[in-house]
Amino acid sequence: MPKYCTHCGNEVNENAVVCVKCGCSIKPVNQVAEVNDTVSVGLVILAVLIPLFGIIYWPVKAKTRPKCAKACGIAAIVSWVVCFLFMMLAGGY
Ligand SMILES: [Zn+2]
Repeated sequence: MPKYCTHCGNEVNENAVVCVKCGCSIKPVNQVAEVNDTVSVGLVILAVLIPLFGIIYWPVKAKTRPKCAKACGIAAIVSWVVCFLFMMLAGGY
C-alpha cells in the first residue's frame, strides 16, 4: 500500500521518515494510537469477577485503549458464558 506525504501529497517509500520532495518529516500513522495501550491485568481480573464492568468498559474505552478494552470485554464475556454454563449444569438436567 503506497504512502503519501501529509504535506505535499508526494508518494513516498512506506519506510521513509522524511519526504524527499518537500523535506518535511512523515509521521507513522500508527504511532499516534500508541498511547499507554497496554492490557491491564487488574482490569481483566475485575472484568472476570464483575462481567458487567467489562461489558461496559469495552465500548467506553474502545477508542482510547482498544487492546485493554478488548481484553476486558472478552474476559467479561468468557466469564459470563462460563458462569451461565455452570448454572445450566448445576440446574439438575
Ligand atoms: Zn512532501
